[in-house]
Amino acid sequence: MYTGKGFGIVEGKATGKVLVISSCVSANIVVENTNSPSFELERFYKARSEAGVQLQNLQEQSATSLGKDQAAIFEAQTMMLMDEDFEEVVRELIIKKDLSAIQAVKAGGEKIAAIFLGMENEQMRSKAADIFDLSRRLHTILSGQSASVYPPEEPFILLAKDLSPGELMQWRSPQLQGIVLSGGSAHSHLAILAAAMKLPCLISADIESDKTYENKILALDASAGMFYLDPDKALLNRFIQEIKREKIKKPATDNRPFYLKTGEEIEILANIGSPEELDSVLEHHCQGIGLFRSEFAYLGRLDFPSEEELFQVYRRLALGMQGRKVVIRTLDIGADKDAPCFGLAREENPALGNRGIRLCLQRQDVFRTQLRAICRAAAFGNLMLMVPMLISLDELLQVKGLLLEVQEELRQEGLEIPELPVGAMIETPAAVMLSEALAKEAAFFSIGSNDLTQYTLAVDRQNPALAALYRQSHPAVFRMLGEVMRAAKAAQIPCSICGELAHDIAHTRELADMGFRSFSMAPVFVPAFKKYLSEQYLQSASPNDTI
Ligand code: PEP
Ligand code: MG
Repeated sequence: MYTGKGFGIVEGKATGKVLVISSCVSANIVVENTNSPSFELERFYKARSEAGVQLQNLQEQSATSLGKDQAAIFEAQTMMLMDEDFEEVVRELIIKKDLSAIQAVKAGGEKIAAIFLGMENEQMRSKAADIFDLSRRLHTILSGQSASVYPPEEPFILLAKDLSPGELMQWRSPQLQGIVLSGGSAHSHLAILAAAMKLPCLISADIESDKTYENKILALDASAGMFYLDPDKALLNRFIQEIKREKIKKPATDNRPFYLKTGEEIEILANIGSPEELDSVLEHHCQGIGLFRSEFAYLGRLDFPSEEELFQVYRRLALGMQGRKVVIRTLDIGADKDAPCFGLAREENPALGNRGIRLCLQRQDVFRTQLRAICRAAAFGNLMLMVPMLISLDELLQVKGLLLEVQEELRQEGLEIPELPVGAMIETPAAVMLSEALAKEAAFFSIGSNDLTQYTLAVDRQNPALAALYRQSHPAVFRMLGEVMRAAKAAQIPCSICGELAHDIAHTRELADMGFRSFSMAPVFVPAFKKYLSEQYLQSASPNDTI
């Protein structure tokens, strides 16, 4: 048994077989020595044949289980795999640059993807994602790691250097039990997604490069920051029993409202990313959804979701919340949230790059599809729209203009389209400085303290080396919150908070004193937040009973 330590960012225990995600781990697990070019060439051709067989199998499997469109993706990838240009690029890198087969498929993949990304034609640009996928597949085969692209049929734990939210979506399955990363960051979207999926998750874990992990049993205790590779029987049984007990004992969440002395109610809303989380929103008696991270439906996908598919998702939310509010944040792709369907070029500084509303205003075709789906679903409940990553009033006005056009288009099609309040997410210092102007055009504000902290402090929320500097309670961030609240009050619009600061009970009182009455958080955090409120604030059946 090997015992390793790490830092738990989503608590809980899990057991399962290890599945190594090689694209991420290879950098620190696979030790590469370059052999003679002829040897490396032979390795490449062998891997290419194996990849061909895998793709053929995937094509057949997906034709029956996922439909023709998915099967066509694998067919196209097979053609690319056998493409002479791709072969030529890899051959040249091996022969002329003395690269190993692994290095050559990676560099070759990047080279060809860059050519596709530079093309005018949208369809051609999207081929870059297929090339990345292919080169990852070859890399996986060459490094002798698991080459599966379907989640295993038995309980498993993902082990990687780091994972993107898109990669996690790819491995999403009822059999996925937990995540162990040698890298990772507590403030990343991966962390948010893992919490939403209730997956115990360990970052900065002691993954040793000389150990074999693949297919071994791993017992993970993220709450204690420990993992056990090849655990002994007694330990494994103890874990299995505890996990079972944990599942049974679900304490009922407090469903009483909380009021301040002034009689004002404290509103608790939920942050979610998929309709599958609705049960936990209702189970924890949240008063609405304060942040629906709509981009999660696009992550890791090679094709864009259709208007109908999105409409079904939003309608489910509207109906599921039975008239309570549902704030849909418009697509916030970019930075660490990779959606291959956009075929985005690699950026030097992705957090400062083409993300959020900037990308939506550039890709109005994609944005309009989302807006149409939201407008149609708005007839089934109490939906609201929220715009992320704003840095100017003009961006908000452009969104409102597009929305009016889309609403008019739908009305022309004979549909009844209700009004949709449009709120501004305040998560850049520019939005803070412009909050007075934004408040005149926004129906509400919601503070994204995760990004606001990153951009105010100039600290990358993804960088584990800077974790100690990334403080949402930094006085500079709080001054910003004060500014925004002042602007919201002056314009008489509500202002909630939906970043991770919302559930940090060490600062709830300060936030309440500043005027915050609405806190939006992942449902997992609601019980502890309610417990804190029940100790601090009077709860009663009616505001008249308050002291
Ligand atoms: C935020 O930035 O605080 C936020 C809620 O958005 P996300 O974490 O999805 O970037
Ligand atoms: Mg954000």
